[in-house]
Amino acid sequence: MKLAVIEGDGIGREVIPAAVKVLDAFGLDFEKVPLELGYTRWERTGTAISNSDIETIKGCDAILFGAVTTVQDPNYKSVLLTIRKELDLYANIRPVKPLPGIIGVTGRSDFDFILVRENTEGLYSGIEEIGPDLCWTKRVVTRKGSERIAEYACKLAKKRRNKLTIVHKSNVLKSDKFFLNICRQTATANGVEYEDMLVDSMAYSLMMHPEKYDVVVTTNLFGDILSDMCAALVGSLGLVPSANIGEKYAFFEPVHGSAPDIAGKGIANPLAAILCVKMLLEWMGEQRYPVIDEAIAHVLLKKIITPDLGGKASTLEVGNAVAEFVARHL
Ligand code: ATP
Ligand code: MG
Repeated sequence: MKLAVIEGDGIGREVIPAAVKVLDAFGLDFEKVPLELGYTRWERTGTAISNSDIETIKGCDAILFGAVTTVQDPNYKSVLLTIRKELDLYANIRPVKPLPGIIGVTGRSDFDFILVRENTEGLYSGIEEIGPDLCWTKRVVTRKGSERIAEYACKLAKKRRNKLTIVHKSNVLKSDKFFLNICRQTATANGVEYEDMLVDSMAYSLMMHPEKYDVVVTTNLFGDILSDMCAALVGSLGLVPSANIGEKYAFFEPVHGSAPDIAGKGIANPLAAILCVKMLLEWMGEQRYPVIDEAIAHVLLKKIITPDLGGKASTLEVGNAVAEFVARHL
């Protein structure tokens, strides 16, 4: 197993080393390939990600990624978009589950669902025309793209409560009617119970009744918007991990960005990055991944927490405490 480790910029450089300590506590046979990518690299060399970096990444099985600062410069090649495209990471996965003692915006802690977002097409097709008086973006929905994301969501649902919610706007968009039909057929073929929701009702329902959902599948733009909203359900950006999965590769990153305002102070919350390690272990088929949940519950209970959660601990202190707990309880 070869793991590319990309710390990136800002707090990525702090939370990833903490997460790697937790991974190391499992004592698994990993070859770690560190790569410097992103804005800091671009400032130094004029390149954020090169073709040879992409080849190196393709020689790995999985990627653990911190965050990169995005720059509005036409010469700056987006690291994330490049990797997503090159590795065909079609499924964006966000588990939305409260952590012990942390209350999100709704005050509820009885939900546990996974948001599955199609990651390669929809409104983010990149097919656009910009004119002086008219601009348009093509919203692409393919049978192949819809089938594979629906299959992925069904596979997850079968391991959980066997319930799929298909989120769309098919009353307005014919492309979503197509997506919805393919998702329904896939769910039926897989024996998964399903329902569908218009995206606007879903936004409301997720805030009012998040406990109703098990696996939620949707197209690119809707998934992008709903997934950030779901971070508010959990309580803090510093607590939410995500995975981008393809047929061959998997890429794990915390939902938060590089947070330049707190970078370099050693106070970033590493729990999202540590939960990324949990997702990586689960993806690999490592059975002992749930010990990370126990370790996180332990540090939260002991108040070994960073300032964003009201504590005084540093990024490394939290990382070390989680890693020590894991090492003692494997
Ligand atoms: P970027 O441009 O890289 O996305 P950003 O300024 O949008 O950076 P985010 O990382 O998206 O910053 O986060 C927004 C705010 O949330 C930050 O200003 C930061 O204070 C807080 N935050 C984000 N992640 C964490 C974390 N892991 N621990 C503590 N606070 C965090
Ligand atoms: Mg941001």
